[in-house]
Amino acid sequence: MITRWSQTLIPTLRQDPSEAEVPSHRLMLRSGLIRQLAAGLYTYLPLGWRSLHKAIEIIRQEMNAAGSVEMFMPALEPIELFAGTGRDVAYGDDLFTLTDRRGHRNALAPTHEEVITEALAASVESHRQLPLNLYQIQTKFRDEPRPRFGVLRSREFIMKDAYSFHVTVDGPGGLDATYERMYQAYCRIFDRCGLTYETVEAESGPIGGSASHEFMVICSTGEDTVYKSDKGNYAANVEKCEIGPRAWSFDPPDPPTESAGDLETVHTPDLPGIDLVAAFLKITPDRMLKTLVCSSDNGWILAVLRGDHDLNLGKLKTACESAVQLADEKAARDAGFAVGFVSPAVAKTITVARIVIDPDAAQSRDWVTGADRIDYHVRNFQWRRELGELLDGDTVRVADIRNAIDGDPSPRDDGGVLRAERGIEVGHVFKLGTKYSEAMGFTVLDENQKSRLVIMGCYGIGPGRILAAAIETNHDDDGIIWPAPIAPYTVHVVTIKLDEAGSKALDTLLANLDAAGIDVLVDDRPERPGPKFKDADLIGCPIRLTIGAKSLAENAVEFKLRCAARESAELIKLDAVADRCLEVAGGGR
Ligand code: ATP
Ligand code: MG
Repeated sequence: MITRWSQTLIPTLRQDPSEAEVPSHRLMLRSGLIRQLAAGLYTYLPLGWRSLHKAIEIIRQEMNAAGSVEMFMPALEPIELFAGTGRDVAYGDDLFTLTDRRGHRNALAPTHEEVITEALAASVESHRQLPLNLYQIQTKFRDEPRPRFGVLRSREFIMKDAYSFHVTVDGPGGLDATYERMYQAYCRIFDRCGLTYETVEAESGPIGGSASHEFMVICSTGEDTVYKSDKGNYAANVEKCEIGPRAWSFDPPDPPTESAGDLETVHTPDLPGIDLVAAFLKITPDRMLKTLVCSSDNGWILAVLRGDHDLNLGKLKTACESAVQLADEKAARDAGFAVGFVSPAVAKTITVARIVIDPDAAQSRDWVTGADRIDYHVRNFQWRRELGELLDGDTVRVADIRNAIDGDPSPRDDGGVLRAERGIEVGHVFKLGTKYSEAMGFTVLDENQKSRLVIMGCYGIGPGRILAAAIETNHDDDGIIWPAPIAPYTVHVVTIKLDEAGSKALDTLLANLDAAGIDVLVDDRPERPGPKFKDADLIGCPIRLTIGAKSLAENAVEFKLRCAARESAELIKLDAVADRCLEVAGGGR
């Protein structure tokens, strides 16, 4: 494939676009790969589309090789389909909805679990028709609260989404086997795209265990936080990351090392937030207890954390063995909680179902905490003194309910320490279990003619994020340095003032490259060499060939790798160029 610059659209920019916060966004705009239409909506211009297409082809090949079969579903779907699984509510404002001319409400699909489950439920009746693993490469819509970073978090984007269907979890044809195959296919896809990535445990579905993994490209601009043990045997995202054992005690050592001060009430008006209260009281937030009022089917739940720590709602749910959410503020106030000034001692006056205390907060020391009175805090809160025997009853439970932080002990309990890193999630594999088959009544008859809910898995990849993540981790001050397999073109030819003979030599060279299956962008603009070289560096194709009177005098072109220093440019004879390009960049016929 040969493309001449003069015949395509590559609107490179000299200046950095002001709206771009991260390198990939800036470079994708500057090198003319994409153009923003509106917040979170991007046109893939010819260069960007070629790269995206290459990533998609790699995904398609590996999915096919792993036994998944391609299909295609509509992006527009009746809202009832979402209402049936409760996802119209669960997705909330992220779901794009629209009303058609007949007054029917529809959604633009953020993913396709419902659509595919509906299709299979209508045509699969027997266990003999399973397992099945189907995928599509199609546009998704999500009204993200903060579309940003270009195609990394956009509101319309292409996704490869695969869904698998099984009668069992274990054994041949079971969910676990397909999950493993998809996991391995993902590794091959990201390897082939030239990405350096990590797999991390993510929040698991109803099946539990390590039933979900995210594929993360580690880079400082990533939106996700992941934690890795310095022993190299554990990695998880912040939602999932467990923390190793931490010692705790409500009771002071005997004899006490310091004497507890009296409980002292302090007036703390107009100080929204723990940091301001701490500054006012001249302490650090880690000296404070944070008591969050949550609600559950069983009643109120108090979650108590150290002031500098963040609640992990998933962990709180696990600790309570039930659905828990942060309480509605008005309802909590109506029930008598001094929201914003709550202390664990409130459990002495308002009945709560449970007090769950993080181990770091379950320490015997003098704490500052709310006074259960608006605009007041207390100093010298002592667990044993303030709660007494309540601490020993069934209401109180000490459990890991906070997000991990850098330096925490690894859950492997082997002396490892968790270290925080930032990452871009490029793919996700997930054991769904029976969530959708149950909601949509998708059953099959097993070998004993018994009706069974179908077990599902789902597997997503964002090709746009592959490009952006590749750029985030492969660029320099001059521009992008593409991994060859997803570069818009393998070779970027810069022409310098060619006469008639030179143009003929160029045509022969291009014919040779084309015959070898190498894709080439030819900068045939009547520009000076300087700006052309600048654009070549910006666009970042792996190989730059320069052809002009000087090189042609030697019957050669100047050959330079994008990733190599300027001085490394060398002259290569015209008839040896194609082989050299194949040798360096791979591919071809
Ligand atoms: P995130 O947590 O980053 O919002 P997600 O968990 O919502 O991602 P999934 O629903 O698992 O993502 O979607 C599968 C894949 O689709 C992701 O791994 C990612 O590569 C891609 N993706 C998700 N949301 C977006 C988006 N707004 N823009 C571009 N790609 C996206
Ligand atoms: Mg999301």
